[in-house]
Amino acid sequence: MTELINPATEEVLRSVDHLDAAAVDDAVRRAQAAQRRWAALAPAERAAALRAFAAVVDAHAGELAALEVANSGHPISSAEWEAGHVRDVLHYYAAGPERLSGKQIPVAGGLDVTFNEPLGVVGVITPWNFPMMIASWGIAPALAAGNAVLVKPAEWTPLTTLRLAELAVEAGFDEDLLQVLPGEGAVVGERFVSHPGVRKVVFTGSTATGRKVMAGAAGHVKRVTLELGGKSANIVFDDCDLELAAATAPAGVFDNAGQDCCARSRILVQRNVFDRFMELLEPAVRRVVVGDPAARDTEMGPLVSAAHRDKVASYVPDDAPVAFRGTAPTGRGFWFPPTVLTPQRTDRAVTDEIFGPVVTVLAFDDEHDAVTLANDTAYGLSGSVWTDDLSRALRVTRAIEAGNLSVNSHSSVRYSTPFGGFKQSGLGRELGPDAPLSFTETKNVFIAIKEAP
Ligand code: ADP
Repeated sequence: MTELINPATEEVLRSVDHLDAAAVDDAVRRAQAAQRRWAALAPAERAAALRAFAAVVDAHAGELAALEVANSGHPISSAEWEAGHVRDVLHYYAAGPERLSGKQIPVAGGLDVTFNEPLGVVGVITPWNFPMMIASWGIAPALAAGNAVLVKPAEWTPLTTLRLAELAVEAGFDEDLLQVLPGEGAVVGERFVSHPGVRKVVFTGSTATGRKVMAGAAGHVKRVTLELGGKSANIVFDDCDLELAAATAPAGVFDNAGQDCCARSRILVQRNVFDRFMELLEPAVRRVVVGDPAARDTEMGPLVSAAHRDKVASYVPDDAPVAFRGTAPTGRGFWFPPTVLTPQRTDRAVTDEIFGPVVTVLAFDDEHDAVTLANDTAYGLSGSVWTDDLSRALRVTRAIEAGNLSVNSHSSVRYSTPFGGFKQSGLGRELGPDAPLSFTETKNVFIAIKEAP
């Protein structure tokens, strides 16, 4: 059992029972039976079921958002967007069952066709930063491809995911088809990895735990998709709209209080505009509205837990090179103000993923230096390039080793486009048109044609 704490008030919300490995084994057995029933439905029936699920999520979007505000401290405007995103992801992948059409391949002597067969039972292990959204990225395409899904939410933030499973049943789903199993990573998560009946594990979390999942999965040659850490660069060239780059840089890193693997947590600024950029950035950082996540105008809430706040704070010791900071409430709640550092290139604040509202700003000399700095990390998830020179934008985005780049903006997650990392930021891609395929095996069938008599 674990007690859930509201990160903005430190009040106990409720407690949730943690399951053991035997409960996972039982869930896998029931999911295997439910998967066979689900896969036997006509594609149009599975599509209709996913659309019905989306409609029930839509009808409960306000409730899901309020739960995320209380459990995770997300600002209400963000939490509402997240609930709407879950609905949209379900809608988008509702088209999947009728579009996994395989191929007909020309061969001699017969007909050759491919089928996209479901894997069976899929395990989805989610982190605490975007609980319901990240769960939906696994749930929707895996179901669309004919699989059953087990989800293990992060220990601190299980409430919206538990509610999603109830809403699926309300929409008419078999209760064993989508099961949410709260518990510890080392118990429930590890059992997903070690159970031979779980055919794929989709893991989102830290790179250290992702490595363990991948190593464990190797024992069964189990499929994995990994979405891991990031330390993304926001590169500001001297020919860009500097006002806009500075005005949007805070949202690019402080969204969700920096607890975002896509956070642009290293701002790299061309040396000849560095001072001007910092002058423009300071008021933008001070303007970030940090406070009660239930308030409509709040832009940034608290950190998720006391332990996480302590970890973030360790990156800003008393002698840290703080350029300026925003504000944050004092008193109860796990608050941390937006903080801008100007350290040396080798400082651990520049190299480690902090996962909090701390950003470093470094100067670079030219395009080559910018790309070298941006790639000087084990991670490769996202990044932004600010320039009005189209050729430069293309040269630099092609040279950066990262999966999700944006030019003159900080967008990275759209359900209709692929999302994932290079290098130690992960393996495989989620979202986008091809996601259901990553929950299938390709089967090739050759049918011989007899010679005419
Ligand atoms: P954090 O983001 O808290 O540093 P982790 O990468 O450890 O997190 O956690 C992400 C998810 O992985 C959580 O749901 C957590 O419970 C789970 N997890 C932790 N350890 C393991 C493990 N050894 N095997 C599988 N899942 C794990």
